[in-house]
Amino acid sequence: MRYISTRGLAPTLDFSDVLLAGLATDGGLYVPESWPTVTPAEIAGYACRPYADVAIDLMARFTEPAISRKELTPIVTAAYEQFDHPAVAPLRQLDSGEFLLELFRGPTISFKDYALVVVGRLFDHVLRQRKLHMTVVGATSGDTGSAAIEACRDRDSITAFIMHPKGRVTEVQRRQMTTVPSANVFNIAIDGTFDDCQALVKAMFGDAAFRDRMRLTAVNSINWARVMAQVVYYFTAAVALGAPARVPAFAVPTGNFGDAFAGHVARRMGLAIPQMVIATNRNDILVRLLETGVYRKDSVYASLSPSIDIQVSSNFERLLLELEGNDTTALRTRMTAFEKHGQFQLSASALAQMRSEFDGRAVSEDETLRTMREVLDRTGVVIDPHTAVGIVAGRAKRRRNDVPMVYLSTAHAAKFPDAVRQAIARDAPLPAHLADLFKRPERCDTLPNDLRRVMAYVEERAGV
Ligand SMILES: *Cc1c(COP(=O)(O)O)cnc(C)c1O
Repeated sequence: MRYISTRGLAPTLDFSDVLLAGLATDGGLYVPESWPTVTPAEIAGYACRPYADVAIDLMARFTEPAISRKELTPIVTAAYEQFDHPAVAPLRQLDSGEFLLELFRGPTISFKDYALVVVGRLFDHVLRQRKLHMTVVGATSGDTGSAAIEACRDRDSITAFIMHPKGRVTEVQRRQMTTVPSANVFNIAIDGTFDDCQALVKAMFGDAAFRDRMRLTAVNSINWARVMAQVVYYFTAAVALGAPARVPAFAVPTGNFGDAFAGHVARRMGLAIPQMVIATNRNDILVRLLETGVYRKDSVYASLSPSIDIQVSSNFERLLLELEGNDTTALRTRMTAFEKHGQFQLSASALAQMRSEFDGRAVSEDETLRTMREVLDRTGVVIDPHTAVGIVAGRAKRRRNDVPMVYLSTAHAAKFPDAVRQAIARDAPLPAHLADLFKRPERCDTLPNDLRRVMAYVEERAGV
């Protein structure tokens, strides 16, 4: 399997190089040259198999020949051993024909664990082979930071620096990052906003001498390996509900379009998903695109579902390449227009294709709160606000009542205590493995929003 950049000007790479590169040198995102296919008989064969086995079988199609199935097996098996449900990504029935896909069973209780536990181990594997040490730098507004720290902890080949905006993440989110007692992990609270943190990361990557000296890398949401790992639970959920004969529809709360794109990849590989619903909150760039054909950046609004408060869906560029008939020149034209003018218009045929594959719905705060209450009242289940966004959109856009609908439940309710309290006037307890989170000692340094101070901090500790 070889990978090309969506913008067509970067070298073609194998899986390991794509893993370490993250973003392509032409500013594009890496995508497989062609989609590997899974036959109906192979899908049927996934029935009742452990999650890790299905993951190995699907991922090997993307990693070989760079990483063989044999090398992949212990990596993936170990990654999913730390989940708190034996099915790893279990389904829970909400109503007749309605299911939650519980993607909060990993160490940091958001769906980001499902990819990052594997990505951290793959990094370590490739870096050991190459006898290299790399420095991970990242900015987080909440969930990505803790999942990335968990993925990088105690790995000798990596030193990780994760910045969060001081006082602007929830206490649960902060403690999930600062209580990890690993010598190779550094938490930096920046006196500033999330945008300031992101600008610092960008500036460090923009300084070529620093980037090369520190061997900087990122485990952000545009890394192909993350999308690859997220494809797996679409297959396991579908198979549990009767695939390949009967495949459910999916509704996905989305910001960066990573999770929704993974569903699209599952479809391309041969899983006949009859309907995919994109669910957003008021930050609705993708829903507006579906309605108008115009991809236009708006301001970011703070909401009850903060992990999808995003106005530029980075992974959408991967779908756009397909919508543009895999024409990298056409894609470059669109993305240049977007970077210059903050918008572009899809062609009529691209819009028609997008509409044939996705439905979308923007969900209000009121609908989110009402649905959290309603689900609790009817089923006794406490859901998080992102899950509620998915449920509202999935119900509103459901096309066929004789096809089951699966809502991706992307986080545990305990991660968003304020929203939960506002909706149902009670607390959602943390799962057992995090029950003592508020008793664990914290490790974190505060730095001003000053690039030179942050670079000096990294330089002193990176160990390269
Ligand atoms: C990151 C995140 C999302 C959005 O995922 P994308 O891949 O950016 O679409 C949804 N819900 C939760 C809880 C998240 O942490």
